[in-house]
Amino acid sequence: MNSKKAVSALSHKYIINDPLHQIFDAVSAISVQGYDENRRVIYWNEGSELLYGFTKEEATGQQIEDLIIPKPMCEFVIAAHTNWIKNGVEIPAAELTLLDKQGNDVCVYSSHVLFTNQYNNKQMYCIDIDLTDVIHAQAQATFKDQMLETIFKAIPDLFFLMESDGTIVDYHASNISDLYVSPEKFIGKNMTDVLPEDVARKFHNHIAKALKQTEMISFEYDLILPRGLSFFEARINYLSKYQQLVVIIRDITEQHKNAELIRHQAYFDCLTLLPNRFLALDRLTQILIEADRNTEQAAVLFLDLDDFKKVNDSLGHEIGDKLLIESAKRLQNVLRKEDTVGRLGGDEFIILLRGLTEHYNALAVAEVLLKTFREPFNIDGRELILTLSIGIALYPENGLGASDLLRNADTAMYQAKALGRNTHSFFTKEMNTVMQRRFAIEEQMHGALERQEFELYYQAQFDLSNDKMVGAEALLRWHNPVLGNVTPDEFIPIAEHTGLIVPIGQFVIRQALTFLSVWQGKGNKKYTMAVNLSPRQFRDEGLLSLIQNTVNEAGIDFEDFELEITEGVLMGGQSYIKDALHEINKLGIKLSMDDFGTGYSSLSYLRQYHFDILKIDRSFIHGITLNKSDCDLVKATIAMSHSLGLLVVAEGVETKEQHTLLRELGCDFVQGFYLSKPVPAKQIMNLSSYFN
Ligand code: C2E
Ligand code: CA
Ligand code: CA
Repeated sequence: MNSKKAVSALSHKYIINDPLHQIFDAVSAISVQGYDENRRVIYWNEGSELLYGFTKEEATGQQIEDLIIPKPMCEFVIAAHTNWIKNGVEIPAAELTLLDKQGNDVCVYSSHVLFTNQYNNKQMYCIDIDLTDVIHAQAQATFKDQMLETIFKAIPDLFFLMESDGTIVDYHASNISDLYVSPEKFIGKNMTDVLPEDVARKFHNHIAKALKQTEMISFEYDLILPRGLSFFEARINYLSKYQQLVVIIRDITEQHKNAELIRHQAYFDCLTLLPNRFLALDRLTQILIEADRNTEQAAVLFLDLDDFKKVNDSLGHEIGDKLLIESAKRLQNVLRKEDTVGRLGGDEFIILLRGLTEHYNALAVAEVLLKTFREPFNIDGRELILTLSIGIALYPENGLGASDLLRNADTAMYQAKALGRNTHSFFTKEMNTVMQRRFAIEEQMHGALERQEFELYYQAQFDLSNDKMVGAEALLRWHNPVLGNVTPDEFIPIAEHTGLIVPIGQFVIRQALTFLSVWQGKGNKKYTMAVNLSPRQFRDEGLLSLIQNTVNEAGIDFEDFELEITEGVLMGGQSYIKDALHEINKLGIKLSMDDFGTGYSSLSYLRQYHFDILKIDRSFIHGITLNKSDCDLVKATIAMSHSLGLLVVAEGVETKEQHTLLRELGCDFVQGFYLSKPVPAKQIMNLSSYFN
């Protein structure tokens, strides 16, 4: 380009040296070139030297097309120049890419002027502003734009631009369907108007945090989308200079699912989907803490399928697996929601029973489990019988820690196997006997009333002042064909627990009062009848009306009827008990404090409630002739009772000496084997005529 064409001497006519040149000479930031009619350089300022690399000396006299015009443009430039000079068609200012001395592109914004000098020659001046930096910056910006665009397209994340108050001004999403609502519903809106309240609150709080710091803030939230519950991570960055927030949202639902899956695999058995050993032991630890807090009991049942190995070996693992799955289902169906079934591995399962009030309930569960396995399994059209051996360990009796309990339940399970399988066993022998007995009693008690296995015995009470029989206490007897005679001390607590005490108690009241009416009529004497009431009976709303109706039907006086309650009834302080006792008083029925001396023997109950009679427990009567302290205690109790206006009955009088001493101590009535054991109705009738 920089051809060494001989430069014909420039005539002086073109050398203008006016103030304009002086100005141009002073600015080096702008290139100014002057050309004559033949496009030869007549002026070349320092700015041109810097921009195009040619010195003034090199440039002067050269034609423009030989200096800075790229070849393809030359023809056009020459034509445009000629056209301007000849026809006055102006060359407009434009962005051009020219060349420097080294042949590199030079981007300029080129403006042109043409004027005629004092010699009537046309001169063109080009004023070029270097655009290299601008163009570079523009290119850079475009590049960044494109890069961002590519990134936005490639990344599934959502980008939002928000004002610092949460107004959404812009967004980028590679897939519009990822948006919670369509853009027209959120652009220009505050995110609190778009998102559900709880999520919006989270955003709000985190934005407030982001506004105060330069670091990125991130948090997680979830949204219900048409495809289901989805989890997101939001990252917020505050561009304080622009007072805008960049919010980047990433869908982390998959991650959540994977984490959940991993968690599940770590805690659950993949065949039966039951909690595995790890989780089961963890739950057991929790249950034990809870049991301590609520003073409750808990039980661990260790289950082993009998002869499962044989099934596996003979029918194959596939059937074995199906059998395990079905077994797990059966176990789950039997249990309460709050109990845990876990698979320890192989054919071993664990069951955790929480919040037990009675240990014996664990036995009931074990029985139900054995029963559910009596039904054959139907696997692939085949009927299979599978039995269980169950070991039971109780908390806190059989171990204080989870692993102790598990080990002891395991030991108990081996005992069950040794007993011939398809059964359960407690960790200790004593427990086995106690629990089996309790279970048998409960089982037999169902239907015992209907089968008329209950009978009332009556124990006579005597007036100490004259040794006359004054009445009797009704005591329940149970004759069961399987268990023989079961004592009330054994069956009453179980009847209480199962609630069977309510119908049984009703039977006692009816029976005792019916007998009293017969008894009174026969001897023409005002005998009294005492009946024991359990706490549970007070929860029966029909209790009072039953008593009232029965007394009326029997045609006896309310004052001849006594109800014996123990401190235990009063300790709960329930208002329905208070109300019932009040009603009993109002009817004129006598109230007896039973077993005095065994519990807390709180005097406050005697003051709070209107008692008529106090019964000193037989454990104290037993000692009165043997040690002074018992004697003193009984003496004091009698004195105290009298001062409170109560009559005193001494229970369990077995000897003549006790009888004599009690009379000396001022006791009012006695009851005990010395004078009479509890006997059937007929017998007490005979006795009473004898004592009359
Ligand atoms: P309790 O109310 O203290 O009844 C007195 C118990 O002492 C009776 O026992 C009676 O047989 C026994 N006894 C009486 N005299 C003597 C004696 O001289 N020496 C000895 N060692 N014992 C004597 P039983 O009949 O076995 O009843 C036990 C408990 O069962 C009763 O204690 C009572 O709490 C409860 N019970 C009995 N029948 C009923 C009933 O119908 N309803 C309710 N809720 N509880 C009942
Ligand atoms: Ca009693
Ligand atoms: Ca008693």
